[in-house]
Amino acid sequence: MHEGKKPCRCLLLEAGQADMARTVAEYVAGLDDSVRTPEEEYRARLSLCQDCPELMNGTCRLCGCYGETRAAKKGQQCPMVPARWSKIE
Ligand code: SF4
Repeated sequence: MHEGKKPCRCLLLEAGQADMARTVAEYVAGLDDSVRTPEEEYRARLSLCQDCPELMNGTCRLCGCYGETRAAKKGQQCPMVPARWSKIE
């Protein structure tokens, strides 16, 4: 039987995907200010993703995106109904 690591409900770095986490961080840093989510809202979105049962090894199971990339664009929405990010004021 396969003895792989248990999937975790966590973001990329916590999931042990340091290389991908670094690549995603570079992608986010390179986004134009006109599309990038403001830092405070980005952190709030990621905090909600970290508590979400749909986050698995850094990937949202509803949309297939890395949490860090989906949250990084202000025009993106959380795909859950109702959207978890709508809790952010
Ligand atoms: S459903 Fe929403 S809160 Fe949950 S992981 Fe996906 S984007 Fe994040």
